[in-house]
Amino acid sequence: MKKKQKQFAVIGMGRFGQSVANTLFNTGYEVLAIDNREKKIEEMAKKVTHTVQADATDEKALRSLGLRNFDVVIIAIGDDDINASIMTTLLVKEQGVQMVVAKANSENHGKILDKVGADRVVFPERDMGVRVAHNLECTNILDHIELTPEYSLAEIEVTENLANKSLKELDLRAKYGINVLAIKNCNDEVNVSPGADVKINRGDILIAVGKEDKIKKIEEI
Ligand code: ATP
Repeated sequence: MKKKQKQFAVIGMGRFGQSVANTLFNTGYEVLAIDNREKKIEEMAKKVTHTVQADATDEKALRSLGLRNFDVVIIAIGDDDINASIMTTLLVKEQGVQMVVAKANSENHGKILDKVGADRVVFPERDMGVRVAHNLECTNILDHIELTPEYSLAEIEVTENLANKSLKELDLRAKYGINVLAIKNCNDEVNVSPGADVKINRGDILIAVGKEDKIKKIEEI
């Protein structure tokens, strides 16, 4: 039996909403894009599966879209009209949508979205700011994924100070609570779950999990 294609609806075609809708569609999902402005709907017509011009705070109009049948509804209204974002989240949740993801502009906005029923609240601007800052700040941290506000997965380039030592000698786990999951060398060969005696060389990349502040400390070794 063919697996049913996951269906997404994205409300609000600002830059964030468009980017989410586009990416989901290009990944192969069915995407309905909703906005109350005709211009935005025209812009998206060829970039998603369906488009509808509707005011998402109008309960009747919203109900007629049958959002209950969608697996995930993303509410990307925000910058100019926090009330519309809150109202839409409440109405969409009331209509029985299982998974509602809502975009927040601030901590307070996020708290309200959570209270009115959003299953997940995202802070794209804050999160992007954090990522950019990390990338600028940590010269030998190549990539960085925040797993929780406290823990991260990071790619750390081995500089002179770390090089030519074994993992045992570096003792990152005991000293910093950092676990090295894999080591990639300059030929792109990956050693998964490296043993304590594995020596690391300059230019290797450590793929490691640990607390954010401790990962930063590696810079200072
Ligand atoms: P961005 O900063 O992401 O580019 P923006 O500043 O253009 O967004 P926002 O106020 O964040 O605009 O709103 C995002 C989109 O949501 C806009 O395209 C706007 O037309 C749409 N929108 C706002 N209110 C509603 C509503 N009640 N129903 C449907 N769409 C709405």
